[in-house]
Amino acid sequence: MCSAQNVCLCFFKNTYRNVCFLKNINSINKGVKNLIIVMLGAPGSGKGTVAKLLTDTLNIEHISTGDMFREEIKSGSKLGKELENYMSDGKLVPDDVVIKILDERLSRPTAQNGVVLDGFPRTKIQAEHLKQLLEKRNKKVDVAIQLNIPDEDIIYRTVKRRICSNKDCGAIYNLEFNKPKQDGICDVCGSELYRREDDNEETVKRRIDTYHKRSEPIIKYFEEEGILYTVDLRAQDQVTKQDIDKWLKDINKKI
Ligand code: AMP
Repeated sequence: MCSAQNVCLCFFKNTYRNVCFLKNINSINKGVKNLIIVMLGAPGSGKGTVAKLLTDTLNIEHISTGDMFREEIKSGSKLGKELENYMSDGKLVPDDVVIKILDERLSRPTAQNGVVLDGFPRTKIQAEHLKQLLEKRNKKVDVAIQLNIPDEDIIYRTVKRRICSNKDCGAIYNLEFNKPKQDGICDVCGSELYRREDDNEETVKRRIDTYHKRSEPIIKYFEEEGILYTVDLRAQDQVTKQDIDKWLKDINKKI
């Protein structure tokens, strides 16, 4: 089911950039690799789900800073303990820590054929550093996809969110709108589902607040770069592979 209610593309400001973008979008539809896609949106807007669909469609790497941090916490390392303090409070991890981790991640061989960045950048400083990190690799962000969802819907989506514990599956459910067939069990792989520690109402409210204050300004940043693509969603919307194909075609048509 196609659920995006409103899709808007901000055009490039000059012809040269327009041509480049057109080439990139054509590349998306032809399945050509090396694309750098940034996912933008509040917590629970569905960045993870969309990132997964995009990476499956385009066969490129999914880099989720939140997932990387949760793995680090699980490992019990000193860094993990530090990260946990910020995350359980709904605060952002300091820019220098995130940028260093991302720099290393972008250097890995698996990231050389294109990436979907899910949860990075989250501040203007991170966005500016991302540009530099990519420039030194002769790359750039090709498109920033913003998932726009009202705050009241975010609470529903996060508090009722359940995630498959199998890292290779990572399917995401919602106890209201997208229930698993069997309570607590993943439909896809049969593993147990879990609730993220920071998906409780109190922390979610702080995360939304942090998003408005720290992360929203980067929407303007990507708009000014001329590569912002916005999709409006509501709580019950489940983005599907068909939606992703349609968005990509839609982008293609509008430019
Ligand atoms: P996510 O899984 O993307 O919702 O991220 C979970 C938490 O990890 C966030 O609430 C932040 O505490 C932290 N985090 C993830 N990515 C970043 C980032 N780019 N900058 C700062 N903190 C981040």
